[in-house]
Amino acid sequence: MLAYDTLLAARDAVRSKKISSVELTRQALDRIDKIEPRILAFNSLFADRALEQAKDVDAGKRTGPLAGVPIALKDNLCTSHGTTTCSSRMLENFRAPYDATIVKKLEAAGAVIVGKTNLDEFAMGSSTENSAFKTTRNPWDTARVPGGSSGGSAAALAAGMCCASIGSDTGGSIRQPASLCGVVGLKPTYGRVSRYGLVAFASSLDQIGPFGWNVPDCALLMNVISGRDPKDATSVDQAVPDYLKQLDEPLKGLRIGIAREYQLAAGMDPQVKSAVDAATKKYQELGAQLVDVSLPHTEYGIAAYYVIAPCEASSNLARYDGVHFGHRTKDPVKDIIELFSKSRAEGFGEEVQRRIMIGTYALSSGYYDAYYLRALKIRALIKRDFDQAFEKCDVILCPTSPTPAFKAGEKTGDPLQMYLCDVFTVTCNIAGIAGISLPCGFTTGPKPLPIGLQLLGPTFGEEKLLRIARMYELTTDWHKRRPSLETN
Ligand code: GLN
Repeated sequence: MLAYDTLLAARDAVRSKKISSVELTRQALDRIDKIEPRILAFNSLFADRALEQAKDVDAGKRTGPLAGVPIALKDNLCTSHGTTTCSSRMLENFRAPYDATIVKKLEAAGAVIVGKTNLDEFAMGSSTENSAFKTTRNPWDTARVPGGSSGGSAAALAAGMCCASIGSDTGGSIRQPASLCGVVGLKPTYGRVSRYGLVAFASSLDQIGPFGWNVPDCALLMNVISGRDPKDATSVDQAVPDYLKQLDEPLKGLRIGIAREYQLAAGMDPQVKSAVDAATKKYQELGAQLVDVSLPHTEYGIAAYYVIAPCEASSNLARYDGVHFGHRTKDPVKDIIELFSKSRAEGFGEEVQRRIMIGTYALSSGYYDAYYLRALKIRALIKRDFDQAFEKCDVILCPTSPTPAFKAGEKTGDPLQMYLCDVFTVTCNIAGIAGISLPCGFTTGPKPLPIGLQLLGPTFGEEKLLRIARMYELTTDWHKRRPSLETN
């Protein structure tokens, strides 16, 4: 076990020399040794290098706001050390020639990188079952999935194998696994965090963000990773506030938006509904005013997302042809076309192939207007819905995921069921706004499963969003619960 399992506590303990970074890093590596065979959160470990980094912290050679703390990275973030696989056969042996900006920033802040975590192949999925290598297990019940696509990052944290982790979120891939694993996950506004070095899935939706045990840990990570990067033209030149500064100050006159369309979402688990209703009440007790808002185009969110994301994916993944990038078939081939098609057939898993086909179809000349263009029109309407709603409220409150963690294998035969997990998360990416998931309860039963509360805020509203999340967190102790891996 880690003597300090949260980011700020660990950072402060290292700073005040209550524990050395080497000792803390060793504890994380020992924990990984012991627990990882049952969780399968990591694609690769940077054990020796992590200990070197920790040694440098202890020697005073590396300093900064994250100095000495073990952190895990989703395996779609490029690192010049080790491999960057995206949990795909296509990139199984890929060694990136450079570090992603976020990796540079974390390391400059003194973080110790313990390894790279499993994901659904190329971040396409909601359970990590689409990984070409393995399915990560949920630390609260190892028969269940951790969510996805950043399931490895969420599970590594929840299992106590690091003090924080990084994921990416294209349609829910930080918030949904955070929800299913009982940790906090933030999807920042589009443009808040540089994506240079994030392997692209759907470029108009992808964002990188933090996982932590609590809101302050996510706030601290946001301080480090946010900001304009000349290497990512979509990153925005907007001042980065100190997200920790006023975090514990409750917001006066808080207006919480309740969207009537979210009440109607099909397939919502009754325990999720009652936990989220209880959280709503808690905010009222804290003085918040509930405001009815309407997001009338919510019902088209999934459909629009599952056109836009595959369209962009089909274009982004065209580079993996065995020549420019990626796995190359060893079979004899008669020409370049066969080389491409065989390499791609061998390198990409079923879900990735499905998305490439859907995207290519939707972008083809006869169907472009009917699908892609229409989805873009819906996108504009969804964005407008949010803009109008945020005139009336500070944040919108809803569940993160309609259900708690489901059993491994339960939805793999039915892609549509899997897509429906994303009903509450995709519109946030479609609109480019910020969203956070935090624990708000547990299911009953012998193996209680975490339930996540989602708060959505306007673009560049992270400061307020984190404060509002913190108000709830300060009056509850869900975020202090830990899975007992001894019995699960
Ligand atoms: N579950 C969604 C998908 O499969 C979202 C994935 C993500 O955010 N990367 O596309």
